[in-house]
Amino acid sequence: MNPKPEDMAEFFRTRKNGFGRCLEPTMQCDQLAIRAHSIQNRQTIALLEQDNHVLAWQPRFSPAGPDIALRRIGRNDASTFAGFCNQHDTELFRPLDTKPLDGADREQLFLLAYRGITCELHAIMTGVVQLQSLSTARVKRGADSPDSSSPAEQKAKEQWLLARATLLYRYNYYDEPLLRRSFDGIEHDTIDLNDQAPCLAVSSFITVNDVPLTEELVGVAINILPVSETKTVVTFSYAKKDQGSVRAALDRILGSTLDVQKYELSKLVLSRISNVLISPRHFDLWGAERAKKIAGAFVRTIESQQDVGEDADFMLF
Ligand SMILES: [Zn+2]
Repeated sequence: MNPKPEDMAEFFRTRKNGFGRCLEPTMQCDQLAIRAHSIQNRQTIALLEQDNHVLAWQPRFSPAGPDIALRRIGRNDASTFAGFCNQHDTELFRPLDTKPLDGADREQLFLLAYRGITCELHAIMTGVVQLQSLSTARVKRGADSPDSSSPAEQKAKEQWLLARATLLYRYNYYDEPLLRRSFDGIEHDTIDLNDQAPCLAVSSFITVNDVPLTEELVGVAINILPVSETKTVVTFSYAKKDQGSVRAALDRILGSTLDVQKYELSKLVLSRISNVLISPRHFDLWGAERAKKIAGAFVRTIESQQDVGEDADFMLF
């Protein structure tokens, strides 16, 4: 049995208090989800950490609204999301977690992308729950009328459509093929950043075209992982049929090399991805002014979804 759009309403109704549910491929697991790492602790975070800490984007609440900045977080909590139970987290990702990453291993690259898309799916679903609670609370306290469509309700509905589109995308291109151990429907463009000290790690999934949420989305899973003291690997993973659109959207990255490529990659990370871990040693090299500028750019793109713009200080490597 697999998720159908009409099951989604029920799915969300039964999960009012956030997601404790295991998002394994069949969506049938009853085990409680644990806080699973989206970025591997033992191999990847180990290359970034200092005194068992890394930096991640974290909101803090202030009277003026959420204050988002890169803050220190313990390595065991970094990049975790409650998206898989212990058993599925171990079993699904065993081929990825028990051997070094090999850029020619299609199973490993597929699983890497699967982790990225599931982490993003979990974040989107959590957003649905939060926006729905907010909308309900506004009606309850009389701020919005129950029978007209308020902006809060509209936002919750849009998030719901995004969750549905992402879930269907994962089902079509990942869940089904994963159950058949068929990894050829997902293509990967891989970049090796050589002579690169471990600076940052990323695991996520983004949409690349402004397709209406009622249509099938076009997306790409992105992983940036230091694999040694001198090498970082970047992978872009997408459905075979989307190769043209994805490559066009990423042409500034795929078509450049060395520092220009790292700069273009930095702008993409800064403007589209929140699941990012930064090495404290590297962060300290930026200095306070530059760190402030980078945080400002990150927050601005969340709020306005506008292009991050050009600034040499946006280089994250
Ligand atoms: Zn499970």
